[in-house]
Amino acid sequence: MLEKEYQDRRRLACADLQARTWDGLVVSTPVNVRYLSGFTGSSAALVLEPGGQALLFTDPRYAIQAGEETGCRVRVVKGPLPTAVSRHLARRRLRRIGFENTRISFAAHQELSRGATLEPAETLIEDRRMIKSPAEIELIRQSMLVASRAYDRVIRAVRPGMTEAAVAAELDHQMRRLGAEGPAFPTIVAAGPRSALPHASPGPVALKANQLLLIDMGASRNGYASDMTRTVFLGRPAVKAGKMYRAVLEAQQAAIATVRDGVQAAAVERAARRRLRADGLDRAFVHSTGHGLGLEIHEAPRIGRRDKTLLRAGMVVTIEPGVYLEGYGGIRIEDTVAVTADGCEVLTPNSKELAAL
Ligand code: ZN
Ligand code: ZN
Repeated sequence: MLEKEYQDRRRLACADLQARTWDGLVVSTPVNVRYLSGFTGSSAALVLEPGGQALLFTDPRYAIQAGEETGCRVRVVKGPLPTAVSRHLARRRLRRIGFENTRISFAAHQELSRGATLEPAETLIEDRRMIKSPAEIELIRQSMLVASRAYDRVIRAVRPGMTEAAVAAELDHQMRRLGAEGPAFPTIVAAGPRSALPHASPGPVALKANQLLLIDMGASRNGYASDMTRTVFLGRPAVKAGKMYRAVLEAQQAAIATVRDGVQAAAVERAARRRLRADGLDRAFVHSTGHGLGLEIHEAPRIGRRDKTLLRAGMVVTIEPGVYLEGYGGIRIEDTVAVTADGCEVLTPNSKELAAL
């Protein structure tokens, strides 16, 4: 990411401060610090002032790294960062301070409020992060390709007798080999009836012939997440599985066809549910249709039945309807898509035909 992009992001955040007549904003969530400064360390606080000044606090472990990663001024401090930030605010006579009320600890809040009046910033930075720049969309695309290739490499070797855990380990291994820092979230590999648990964690369970296998995975690459789910059948697909699969796939395609700039998130969910209802499966769809992603695997907006957020060009979201039948299994199909002015671009290139392994 070019330094210019970080400068632009800080300029927008500083304009938000001016509009609220705050004297400063303390950003203490590492992922938001990264978004505004480029610094990737886990110990960080960024103080922004309306005039555009930006000062990054970190501890001595990150002194070299901070110098390499950010164009902001850096202050390396020993001891708790909130204490150092609080002293800095007092010295600069900054009184009305925005803080990340949805993310900060109670102890940090107490420390920061010693000399300042704290104003909840709510999701100020998260709201900005919803709309991705072209450079960010490219990074998500690259992250998606890593996960996609790892999936294609591993899936052709999957056989009954392997365990869920072994398949998950192989997927994670291949993602790293292909350039990921690691998985974006714990990889899900769930076989047979366990695929009816939308967030099953892979265990020492051996895959059997003639059952469903659900794989939900994503890479983290250059900090950006990707997310995909494919469901396959071990053996020749049973009629029931084939019918369920068709319904989920058509629901997913209907949802994707609805995505474009200006559409309400809830409308996308309605499109998926309408198709599932035709097969009496909408009640087996127990989660929402999707979520934004970027520097985090789950970001705004959420795509659920009550979400009034308007989708905007530049948002990147997942579309992932699924149906789950207790005792039988679950089917979910998930792509990562980038919203455009007149539709969306599907970033997940993998086939969605029901594969028979
Ligand atoms: Zn997923
Ligand atoms: Zn997802």
